[in-house]
Amino acid sequence: MASRRGEPGAGTAPGSNVEKGDPVTTVGGNNRRGGGSVTSDHQRTEVPPPRDPELYALTDHFRERLSQEGRYASIPTVSSAIIEGQLRWNQSDGWRFATVTEGVRTVVAVGDTDTGSPVIVTAWTEVVNPQTAITSRHWTATDVETIRLRTALSQSPETSVPGEIRPRVVEESFEMGHHHVTTEAGVGYLSCTDCGGRFRSKSALHHRLCRD
Ligand SMILES: [Zn+2]
Repeated sequence: MASRRGEPGAGTAPGSNVEKGDPVTTVGGNNRRGGGSVTSDHQRTEVPPPRDPELYALTDHFRERLSQEGRYASIPTVSSAIIEGQLRWNQSDGWRFATVTEGVRTVVAVGDTDTGSPVIVTAWTEVVNPQTAITSRHWTATDVETIRLRTALSQSPETSVPGEIRPRVVEESFEMGHHHVTTEAGVGYLSCTDCGGRFRSKSALHHRLCRD
């Protein structure tokens, strides 16, 4: 995860906002030189993406995710992240909006923000405060378990993570790699309700086809 820390100033609180119009040159550490030969990389660090969700196109990748069970990235949440969420930039990931709802953060990655047609590349959720999320009426226990499991699988996609799967209980299947998976308490794998396959990593889910 260290490679994702592109921001200077380690003391910056996670909740700090970069508002439209702020001197964003400090975010990426790049200062515009007044020579007129500004590269697009520099522009990305300097021009914050618009706060108007209407301006954004959706990538096919994101459209597909919107329809997946257990993804929890909805258009209304994504829109509110763009309108009023935190906005951060870093070298490896580009611009990201983030908003926290009842202990769960929605992160929205955007691209082409230095052009006239910015796009929402993808969006996902992560539990940042399990206690708040679990006691919230906004999220069911299954929601929280599913989000935590997705995060655990995505953090090290190539690695089997039975230890991360074992404590999770997800009785309503969610979609990953075209499989529909569930997991029981104390079991270190995911089971596909369609093909019966057992999986311990994200890459396994993506590399083995589901029988329809
Ligand atoms: Zn399957």
